[in-house]
Amino acid sequence: MTYDLQGQALLAWDQLLTYPETALLAFDFDGTLSPITDDPESAYAHPEVGAVLGRVGHRVAQVAVVTGRPVRTVVELGGFEGTAGLDNLVVLGQYGVERWDATTGQHVEPPPPDGIAAVREELPVLLAGLELAGAHIEEKGRALGVHVRRLPDPQGAYDRLVGPLKHLAERHQLVVEPGRQIIEIRAQGMDKGAALRSLVDEVGARCVVFGGDDLGDIPAFDVVAELRDDGTGTTGLRICSVSGEQGQMAGHADLVVDGPDGLVAFLDDLASRLGV
Ligand SMILES: [Mg+2]
Repeated sequence: MTYDLQGQALLAWDQLLTYPETALLAFDFDGTLSPITDDPESAYAHPEVGAVLGRVGHRVAQVAVVTGRPVRTVVELGGFEGTAGLDNLVVLGQYGVERWDATTGQHVEPPPPDGIAAVREELPVLLAGLELAGAHIEEKGRALGVHVRRLPDPQGAYDRLVGPLKHLAERHQLVVEPGRQIIEIRAQGMDKGAALRSLVDEVGARCVVFGGDDLGDIPAFDVVAELRDDGTGTTGLRICSVSGEQGQMAGHADLVVDGPDGLVAFLDDLASRLGV
């Protein structure tokens, strides 16, 4: 495979191939490692993800998954437990509030913010009032997701929901996070950028690769751009997984791949070049 990489992205790619032991590879889960499905509870990882991440995992400093979902859900849907080569995988869940380390098997899960219980109670009434009772509420523990994908007019429903959900969130000192046919209500101050940055510091990574597909990934893409511009010589590569419906995200990335299939192909190629 050949990639049309330039400037900073090309530097990162060269460093990744030459000094893989300095690299942190971090990926979003839904739409990046796992195909988007109508039912978020069955959004299993692409069948080859574990194997290919494991191959690369043998050579790089750290492989991580940075997701908006609870860690337990993603560890299960990803089949990440006990995968060869992912012995030191880190999964940062709920935008970095939760953490799972494959090395220890330990879960870190702080209690949910106060307002979530109240929002959970009020949400069905609000949806019924908007005649959107068919929206699927995803229980995320520290957050609640409202999915419009299964409604007859998803975009219309999305547009009608954003305002009222924002108002509901604000009344309980929470914020909304718009995503791809999902709106989440969660606590302030959690984002993938901060999660990625703290992991970069912890690992001491000199080369940072981040792959994502959705609006919630933009803070992490921005952190990669900041790191490589901060004069410390850190290199960075931003990969966007595009599945057709989110083309505008490509502007935030150096390399665009065709959904989870494309990302697996990229990782497979990387592993081969690294001799694993
Ligand atoms: Mg995603």
